[in-house]
Amino acid sequence: MSDEAPLDVVVIGAGFAGIYALHKLRSQGLAVRAYETGSDVGGTWYWNRYPGARCDVESLDYQFGFSDELQRGWNWSERFATQAEILDYLRYVADTLDLWRDIQFETRVQAAIFDEPSGRWRVTTDTGDRVNARFCISAVGCLAAAPVADFPGLDTYRGETYHTGRWPHQAVDFTGKCVGVVGTGSSGVQAIPLIAEQARELVVFQRSPNFSVPAVNRPLVADWVDAYKERFAEERARAKTTDFGNAAWTTVPHSALEASVDEREAEYESRWREGGAGFMIAYADLMANKQANDTAADFIRRKIRETVKDPETAELLTPRDHPIGAKRICVDTDYFETFNRDNVRLVDVRSAPIERITETGLRTVAGEFELDCLVFATGFDAMTGPLNAMDIRGRGGVPLKERWAEGPGAYLGLAVCGFPNLFLITGPGSPSVLSNMVVSIEQHVEFIADCIAAMGASGCATFEATQAAQDAWVEHVNHEADLTLFPQGNSWYVGANIPGKPRVFMPYTGGVRAYREKCEEVVAGGYAGFQLTPAPADKAAIN
Ligand code: NAP
Repeated sequence: MSDEAPLDVVVIGAGFAGIYALHKLRSQGLAVRAYETGSDVGGTWYWNRYPGARCDVESLDYQFGFSDELQRGWNWSERFATQAEILDYLRYVADTLDLWRDIQFETRVQAAIFDEPSGRWRVTTDTGDRVNARFCISAVGCLAAAPVADFPGLDTYRGETYHTGRWPHQAVDFTGKCVGVVGTGSSGVQAIPLIAEQARELVVFQRSPNFSVPAVNRPLVADWVDAYKERFAEERARAKTTDFGNAAWTTVPHSALEASVDEREAEYESRWREGGAGFMIAYADLMANKQANDTAADFIRRKIRETVKDPETAELLTPRDHPIGAKRICVDTDYFETFNRDNVRLVDVRSAPIERITETGLRTVAGEFELDCLVFATGFDAMTGPLNAMDIRGRGGVPLKERWAEGPGAYLGLAVCGFPNLFLITGPGSPSVLSNMVVSIEQHVEFIADCIAAMGASGCATFEATQAAQDAWVEHVNHEADLTLFPQGNSWYVGANIPGKPRVFMPYTGGVRAYREKCEEVVAGGYAGFQLTPAPADKAAIN
């Protein structure tokens, strides 16, 4: 435990973002400490250890690109890595870069308060630490707050409950049990087939059906991986010039509507067989033109009908309330096939909503279900949730939560006016969750590190987004989103899953390349849109 130990930088979180920020800033000679609530590195990959949890970005793309040594020293075993393998990878990174000594685990940051007279952040934790730092960097991730919906009667339930985003570390055995799963987003879609294999009976409570494509996961062939390692730098450089930061994805560079029906069918079929979320960028306008989008949506609707034997169940599983991709497309292994099993039942809680959790199960308007275990795959208070969970206060003691009461405003998704020297890695208004997170995290960390170095060189004390630049960026983010079909889904992208959350489209839809170019333009313009305040001599002395 420490009391007011001075640091240069406090990093909050030790997932991909936190560990790279720690490494990068420490290698610039700064005194950095990362605080992490979990007992290990990993962030979202530490918490989401439900059966079937794996990444939907290909493993060779979903790794750090800043160090050739790191990529050469690690061998991914499958096309889409499991949660466990990603965690092992992050431990390997922490070992290789000697990061452990500067990460304080099992410590939750409770408050980060900007002290105007000293120009420093005062950070307090639930373990009693009180430190002050010149910079505070949030690396809390976009999908870290996993609240269980406030179902009436939940506290009376006598069975076991689990949330996919807070899965226990010891194995959970569903053998012989009757299990209920609430939620059919990416987490539910991955967990359901594996729970169905174990459970005596599985009841899936579905409010909205989702589009899902097969992962077509497979072991990676060693020779192919070796060849990839040789061209890794090229692949990563290319990923940075794409919209989504994925080297593996390609797009037919014209409208879906310019292709003939047969050509489209062949394109979608080949992507379906190849597997993965790259299906969503088959044509250039799938997220921009509803008619084009319908062609892809209809293809998947047909696949559902062809796969699911019971026509009523197939119809219930068929999404019709949003354009495909407006809610993040799911990537599965045998999801729709699972509903052909005798021990699996689909219950529509859209037409007959959940009334309450009872002592022995769950009651909907239509009936009662006896359940030994309940799994909530109900998602996250995304992007703003983990930030709002802390008491973050900027100039004048204004809480970030209050500033964001009407929706999150951040310049480039990185910095907030009124909160000097606070940086958000993959914050709202950046490509973040619409991109390969690792590529976006690296770009943010490097932007922040360059900025801190430039401040040091120019003797600046504080770095802060101007209100005008922030407003203009937020307007641009909204404008870009409105050019797409994304806002048409009642998704976590707009906060629709959290009652009372302001409906704002949070990630930046303009793409990784355009975003990077904008950041480069900002730097070339002498950090245009940021106000840099010179350090008085006495303040410089303590930094
Ligand atoms: P999600 O996409 O928000 O899905 C939550 C599900 O729970 C939805 O089906 C939702 O229904 C349902 N739900 C929520 N509250 C409910 C309630 N009160 N009653 C009934 N149903 C309720 O959450 P998620 O599946 O955890 O995924 C979130 C994101 O995490 C993904 O989109 C993805 O970005 C990421 N993720 C990625 C992977 C991967 O890499 N493969 C895996 C898992 C998660 P409605 O749709 O009607 O709201």
